[in-house]
Parts: sequence; C-alpha cells; structure tokens
Amino acid sequence: MAWRMLRRKEFHTSLLNLAFRADHEGKKHFSNGAIGNLARFCRSDRPKHAASCMPSNHFIIRNFHAGVYMLTWSRKKEDVVGLKAPKKEKRVKKENRTQPPVEARYVAPKPKIATKSPDKTVEIFDGMTLLDLSKRTGAYISRLQGILADLGEKVESEFDSINIDLAELVAMELGVNTRRMHTGEGTNEPRPAVVTVMGHVDHGKTSLLDALRQTSVAAKEAGGITQHIGAFVVEMPSGASITFLDTPGHAAFSAMRARGAAVTDIVVLVVAADDGVMPQTLEAMSHAKAANVPVVVAINKCDKSGADPERVRIQLGSEGLLLEDMGGDVQVVEISAVAKSGLDKLEEALLLQAEMMDLKARIDGPAQAFVVEARVDRGRGPLATAIVKSGTLVSGQHIVVGAEWGRIRSLRDTAGKITESAKPAMPVEIEGLRGLPMAGDDVVVVDSEERARMLSQGRKKKQEKDRLRKIDEGMADELEIKEETPERVEMPIIVKADVQGSVQAVTDALRSLNSAQVFVNVVHVGVGPISQHDIDLAQACGAYIVGFNIRTPPIAITQAAARANIKVLLHKVIYHLLEEMGRAIVDKAPGTAETQVSGEAEVLNIFELKGRSKSKGPDIKIAGCRITDGHFSKSGTMRLLRSGDIVFEGPCSSLKREKQDAETIEKGNDCGLVIQDCDDFQVGDVIQCLEQVIRKPKFISTQSGSVRIEC
Ligand code: GDP
Repeated sequence: MAWRMLRRKEFHTSLLNLAFRADHEGKKHFSNGAIGNLARFCRSDRPKHAASCMPSNHFIIRNFHAGVYMLTWSRKKEDVVGLKAPKKEKRVKKENRTQPPVEARYVAPKPKIATKSPDKTVEIFDGMTLLDLSKRTGAYISRLQGILADLGEKVESEFDSINIDLAELVAMELGVNTRRMHTGEGTNEPRPAVVTVMGHVDHGKTSLLDALRQTSVAAKEAGGITQHIGAFVVEMPSGASITFLDTPGHAAFSAMRARGAAVTDIVVLVVAADDGVMPQTLEAMSHAKAANVPVVVAINKCDKSGADPERVRIQLGSEGLLLEDMGGDVQVVEISAVAKSGLDKLEEALLLQAEMMDLKARIDGPAQAFVVEARVDRGRGPLATAIVKSGTLVSGQHIVVGAEWGRIRSLRDTAGKITESAKPAMPVEIEGLRGLPMAGDDVVVVDSEERARMLSQGRKKKQEKDRLRKIDEGMADELEIKEETPERVEMPIIVKADVQGSVQAVTDALRSLNSAQVFVNVVHVGVGPISQHDIDLAQACGAYIVGFNIRTPPIAITQAAARANIKVLLHKVIYHLLEEMGRAIVDKAPGTAETQVSGEAEVLNIFELKGRSKSKGPDIKIAGCRITDGHFSKSGTMRLLRSGDIVFEGPCSSLKREKQDAETIEKGNDCGLVIQDCDDFQVGDVIQCLEQVIRKPKFISTQSGSVRIEC
C-alpha cells in the first residue's frame, strides 16, 4: 500500500522535493509541521482515497528517517548518496484526470525547539559518598567538588561521606530532582493508620467525615467544636487511634501523590446504597489500586428507604473488588452518616485493616513529614498541618518545608493544644514558617538556620528554573498547536481559595477547561482573601480572579477591581464556579468561521442593462428573484444553482428592492440581484445566499461532574 502511494505522481513529486531539499541542507528529519503538511496534502489532494490513504501516510511518516532508500527511488539525483536505486517501474497514466497535478508548496522543515529535557530523579541519603552521588547524577567528581566548594564545603576524597542536605543542594545545582531516603534504623513501633475518604459526588463523603469528626479527640476536648485543619484523630475505647485526612475526594489524594507524598494507608470507599457504583466510585478504586492502598468499603445512606446494599456489593464484585463476603479480603460496612449508625463498625474495620498491615514507623531521630493543608492566619502567619511519617518532630527545630523554611515556634495538635513533639501518623499544625508551603510538600529537619536558608533558596531556584523550562516547553507546544489552530487566545486566571487543598483542586479543575481555542493560564494561586496585589497582577495581565470559599473582599478591593475592569468570580460550589468560567471561556473563544445558507430565491425574470458607456463598465444582467426562504444580505456570497448543480459562485454586487438599494431582504419579497461577473442567469434557476457565521465552542458538563470545552 505504501509503495503504491509513493508511486502516485503528485505525492511522489512533492515528497521527493521535500526530501531532496532536506537532504541537501543536511537535515536528518522533518518537523511535525512539515510532515503534517505532507499528510494533509496527500489527504486533501485525493479526498476519495482519504480512508485508504491514512495508514499509508503513517507508514511514510514513520519510515521517513529510514527513507534514504525510499527517497533515492526513481530519481537519478539519488546516485549522489551512493545507493543503488531500484528499477523504475512503469508508470500507469491516470485516466479521467480533470485537474492538473498539484505541486505541493515547499514547506521548510520547522526547527524543533529542543527545550524538553526529561526530569531525572535520584535517590539521596544521609552519609552517601561523593562517589555515590557522582554515579547517581552522572556528574564528574571534580564538578561535585566545585559545587560543594561554592557552598563552602571542602570534600577532598570521593569516598568522603556528605550530609543529605548537601547532597540535595549539589543535585539541585545540577538540575536533578531528588528523593530523600530515610534510614529505617532505630526503634520501630506500631503507629496509627492514616485514612482518606473517597467516592462519588453526593454519596456522603463530607457527611461521613463530619460524623467521624464529631467522635474525634478534638471534638471531645473542645466540646464538639472543631476547626478544619486538614486532619483529625479518632480514638477508640481500646486506646488505638485512627488519623483521618479531612479533604474528601480523589483530587486531593492524587494531587498529594503526584507530589510524592504517600501519606494514606487505607482508603474508605463511600458508595451510596441508593445509588450504587458510579463513575467516580470506579475512579476512586483505580486511584487506590494505582497507589497500592487497600480499600474498606462503606455503604452509606443505609437509612434510606431505597437503600439496596446487596446490589452495591454485587456491583463492586463485578468491578473486580474482592469483597470479604465473597471470599476476598476487602471489608464492607453498612453505615449511615446522617443517622450516625455503623460508624463504630467502620472504625473497627479500619483498625483491623491497620492491624493486618502491621503499620510501624521509626520513632526516634529526625522527623520526615508531609504537609496536608496550609493556610495563613492573620495573627499567627503561615500555618501548615503536617503528618509525621517517621521520626519525631520537635518544637524549636529548624525545618525546610517544600521551598519554604522556618523554625518551629509551636506545634499544636488537632485539638489546638500546644505540644512539644509529634510522633508518626500524628497531625500537627506547625507555626513559625517564613512562607506558605503547599499540600504534599515534604518537611525536612535540618541542623541550623543557615542550612535551612540554603536549602530553601536552592529549592526556590530549582523551582524557578523548572518553571521557566516548563514555560519554554509550553511555548514550544503552543507553537506546534498554533500551526493547526492559529487563533488560540489566552485566558489568564488568578485562583484564591481558603486552603491549599482547594487551591489545587480548583486549579486542576480550571485546567480541564483548556481547549484548542482558549488556553486557560493559571498565572497565580494563593491561599486567603483577594488582596490589592492580586488586583495589580490581574490588571497587569488582564486576568480573571477566581475566589473559592473565601470571604467577600472588602469594599476597597471590590472598587479597585471594578475601576480596573477586572472580573472577580466568588463561589463556594466548584461546579458553579466551573460553569461560570465555562461561559466566560466560550465568550472569549474566537470560534470557527462556518459558511451557512441564509436564504434561497428563485429567478423569475432576467433584465439586461445595455448601452452603458465604457467608463461605467460592461453590460450587466440582473436576476429578478423572489426570496422563498430565509433572507438575503448584500454582504453574502451568491451561489447560482441549476437543476441542483452549482453553476457559479461570487459576491453580490447589487441588491435592490423596488429600485432601492437594500442591505437585507426577507423571505416573501421580490428583489433584483446582480452577481459580480455572472451573466448566465436562466428563469427557474435557484440562488442561495451564503453567509459566514462564527460557531462558538460549547461548555459540556457530564453526569459524573467532569467538564470540558468542545470546539
Ligand atoms: P459528598 O459529595 O460525597 O461529600 O456528599 P455529602 O456528604 O455532601 O452528601 C450529599 C447529600 O447526601 C447531602 O444532602 C447529605 O445530607 C446526604 N447524605 C449523606 N449521607 C447520608 C446518609 O447516610 N443518609 C441520608 N439519608 N442522607 C445522607
């Protein structure tokens, strides 16, 4: 098939033209754009062969680099490259060709911007030698020694060990990502399980967390009043406890996981007994499976009259979840979050699961922790809720959290009580950071303030470098996209939300509204109310400001936004926010131009205007018509049809009604019509008026809650 395709004269000629130019220019391959043009050429040139042409195009494109042989084929010039060309086959003359062969325009190969570099991640640990680091990063020892010297550290031998923070600083300088490996040495003790609640929207995740929170230690100590800090602890009568992450849904779970924070030990999969397995139930199952986290099923809303827990069991079983009742090991508990029934059974099931997993962690030594939530408090500054994975976090320690640093001024437990230290699986609120970290950031304990500053600076520098690289890559991608969709406009957005988890969820959701016509560019995100800084930034880049779950901005800010003509959208329900943004995006989209038949007319009479002077131009023919459908516009293109065939198409040079010039004429009226350069009217012909309309993209929301823009 591919050879047959190549034999086609027109395709062959253009392909070889291209190939030879590239060959002479010493280019080894073509850019996607050039290949795309080739492929498009092939398809558009022979529409009726389009279907059969596709696989051939792919073949040609895929084999293009190896194509010296193919390119040398059937030409004399190819002897230049010293390959023997295969015997030329007899060319069959095409019959019934009405169009001359089309010469493909030469499209210079587009230089590919080589900005994409794969992200390399190496494992580092305390006490690793310079040689270890050199092997992992692929950099010479001398280069590592040079970087260390710049950091004020002298390491002479390649067998000398270095501190984990130094190893990270060196790796960052080399542009390499790191994963910190912590020693498991020390006393390993049982630790509580960390649990995340997931499931389909409206199945009762939030209600379940609310109900569980009321049984939490914090609620008991504070008389039922709890504050959302990202996690809470439930203590069982036996003394054992369970830590629940307070942000439901898999968006937060996967965002944390994407940042390397594998905090969750067990997933509670909430399925409503009256609704059964739904798309997000399956998504949650996939997330848990991908993270290798065991699931405990909570069949919720069992108090409702339409509840059918058995049906849910069968559905889950048929989706591959090996339930306990069916001989598997996944526990199922029937609950009602509203009636607060079955919660004790759920907690017992979680304890049993944790016992089976034999969860243990190192207790002593420096802590390794992850941020689950971060916010700014007016009086206390940046606050981060972290869950300790191993070791013990102690008040007063210097820490680096993501790219921020600080000295722990105080640690508070979930009840808001000051504590001196935090052990594994214990959520604590850290006060004393210099900046606001993000959910999923790691908490690293360092020796001194100087080391904390250095590490934080190094990480910020690396983040900035990565950000710029990503912009470059984005621009390269943009360039490629622009080739196909020249009119893509940008929609800059600033996202402000109550907590870091919401910021990420809103940002991810907004990005799902990206389309070929509008590029949703989240230029800035932040936790807390809308500030003057946000207004300034929005004004500078023409951005929308999206506020999620934040308080209404003060009047001064609202007025400043109005003066600067900045759109501020405040919402508490993410779907409503997406709906409004979707509408704004559709408005902003340039749309695609489409030709539509706006009206149809029948030619009833033909008039000829003769004897005009030369200066006024040639004789003209006027079609006297009746508009039988729609309307006619003077700005439209006129299409003349005879017995259903198109005879002529051209712009309208005159449209008159009762001898008066008219811009538009509606159905049922008679008119006189002149089509530029057309004198071939016959009585009974049909004339169509064609108009260009702009078709805007559509905002689509599915039942599962996902949204997109369809162009
Ligand atoms: P989420 O979207 O999964 O967080 O669901 P929500 O917790 O917001 O609950 C959605 C709706 O279901 C709310 O109106 C709740 O009152 C209701 N709901 C949640 N759990 C139960 C339950 O156990 N029984 C009944 N009857 N209604 C429930």
